[in-house]
This record gives sequence, structure tokens and C-alpha cells, in this order.
Amino acid sequence: MQVNLTSDTATKPTPAMLKAMFAAEVGDDVFRQDPTVNELEATAAARFGMEAALYCPSGTMTNQLAIKCHTQALDEVLCEEKSHIYQYEGAVYSMFSSVGVNLIRGERGKILPGQVTAAVKPRYDWLPISRLLVIENTCNKGGGSVYTIQEARTLVQEAKSSGLAVHLDGARLFNALVETKESPTEWGQLFDTISICLSKGLGAPVGSLLLGPAELIARARRYRKVIGGGMRQAGYLAAAGLYALNHHVDRLAEDNARARRLAAALAPLPFVASVEKTETNICIFHLAADLMAADFLETLASHGIQAVPFGPQTVRFTTHLGVTDEMIDYVINTCSSLS
Ligand SMILES: *Cc1c(COP(=O)(O)O)cnc(C)c1O
Repeated sequence: MQVNLTSDTATKPTPAMLKAMFAAEVGDDVFRQDPTVNELEATAAARFGMEAALYCPSGTMTNQLAIKCHTQALDEVLCEEKSHIYQYEGAVYSMFSSVGVNLIRGERGKILPGQVTAAVKPRYDWLPISRLLVIENTCNKGGGSVYTIQEARTLVQEAKSSGLAVHLDGARLFNALVETKESPTEWGQLFDTISICLSKGLGAPVGSLLLGPAELIARARRYRKVIGGGMRQAGYLAAAGLYALNHHVDRLAEDNARARRLAAALAPLPFVASVEKTETNICIFHLAADLMAADFLETLASHGIQAVPFGPQTVRFTTHLGVTDEMIDYVINTCSSLS
């Protein structure tokens, strides 16, 4: 059996999604004449009760367009040190927006109450200007950790009372919402801008959306174009995103449950030192004593199981649309037999 637990980006379109893609009506989206892209943007904006949305090739682009639109050169962005915008976006904020970051050390990628207020810099000519707070829900490097709306509200209030804008990196926001049962509109009301990924657990092959006020999204659209992100008949891809928003949100609860089943099964194994709290579809665990992640992953690969290292002795398993209960049984049996 082959099981790919490397990432929830490993998904491929289902036959029904492919059918929707082939049937898409398209036009030139740079002229805003692609009806499917327009429908995707309108659907996503409405889902979150926000004014407008922008379809982009990736979540890196939606996050960086948000930073660009919220900041000016020599400002700084407050974020948790495990955040994707800091860890995995090549420090491009420094080039594209000419801003720095102010890193906050929270817990499992989550900023704690009081930490935003404490991190905001006073206004002196020699200091960066704290301009934007970014929080990530769920936090990837935090092991798929979930903010509740109350937790987020506290941080947003701290940011707003210091005059900061707030952006939510919600690449996996729906993985959180199926657990907390909160509505997207509650989150839409709280944040100035939100980024969501269609190509992770939702199962579309490509794409992310930036949601926000119409005026800001219009500026983001122009920046998207000039950095080469204007896509022409993008409706073929947008159709997959629309299909995902309409059919693949609720099923994320299954991915989350499968990751938790993995976590529970791994915890007692002798070669596992500890398993991080697993709330959604990401299970991070640490190997015992002298077992290195590279060696462990090679052994798993010889059994057809793929995963990624998350440190010298740390491994990440990620569940998604392409992982079934039978595959989880197989991974659990294989790991058990190794000990
Ligand atoms: C995947 C991801 C992104 C965007 O990544 P792309 O590969 O650029 O689409 C942004 N934020 C988080 C938390 C992610 O996991």
C-alpha cells in the first residue's frame, strides 16, 4: 500500500472536481471576464461576509499581497516565530514590501494574551513602526494548533487598540472551523484581511484567495498583476476551488479525526518520545533516544509510507483527501511492527 502523508498539498482532483473543471465557463480574468473566477471570488467573499476576494496562484502570494497592502516601507509585521510568513516565505516581505518582522514566541504557534500589546513598539524615529499583526489558524509548524474565536478576538483587540491592521493566514482555517463549529462570518468580521488555501485539504490543484475590503482588494489586484500573477482563463482552476468550497469543507473533520487516530496510536510506541497535541490534520511527533528522522523516514518509505522531517528527530504526518481509514490502519500497523 502507498500512503502519502507528506502534506495536504499532495491531493489530486477527484473525478467530480475534474468534471467541474472541464465544464468551466472561462474568459480573460485580467479583464475580469472569467465568469468562474468571478463566481469563486464572490462565493468566498460572501461565505466570510467580506466585501471582495482575489484569486491567486498561491498562499504565499495572498499573504504577501496582504502585507504589501497593509504596510509601508520601514514598517514591521508582528507574527509568531513559527508562522508561515516568517518560516516559509523566503523573507520576501523584506523585498516586496521593505518591511521587517517582530517575532513573538507564543505556544505551538499561537500568540498568547498580552503578547501583542507587549510587542508593539513605541513611536521613535529609530524604531520600526508596528503596523500589522498576522495570526495563523491553524498553525502549521505549531502542529495544526487551533485558535478559538475568543482567543483571536483578544489578540485583535490588542492590535486594534495599538492602531495595527490584522491579517489572518487561514490557509487551513476550515480545518479549525470544522472542530470549533464557528462560522466563517465571525472570522470575517474580526479581520481586515484573510487568506485561505484551496490547494491544501480542500483538494483543489492550485489556488488561494485573499479576502478583504473592496478598496484593499483592488490594490492587491494591481500588485498581483505587476508581479506576474494575472492569469487569463483561470476559470478552469477556479472551478476546482468552487467545487472544493461547495463539497470539501465538511469532510475536513474526517482528516482531523484520522490525524488524531495516528497521534493516539503513536504515543505509546517505544521509539516515540512524545507526540504533540493533535487538534486538526497535522500530527507532529518526536523520536526517542538515538533514532533520527531521516532513518525512520527511510524505513517508512520502504513500506510505501511517505512523510517529512520537521527537525533532526521530529516527523510530521499530514492527513488529507487522499488518505483513507484503511491507509491509517496500515500506517498504525506498520509503525507498531517496527517497535
Ligand atoms: C501552505 C501555507 C501557505 C501558502 O503556501 P503556498 O505553498 O504558497 O500556497 C500559507 N500559510 C500556511 C499556514 C500554509 O500552510
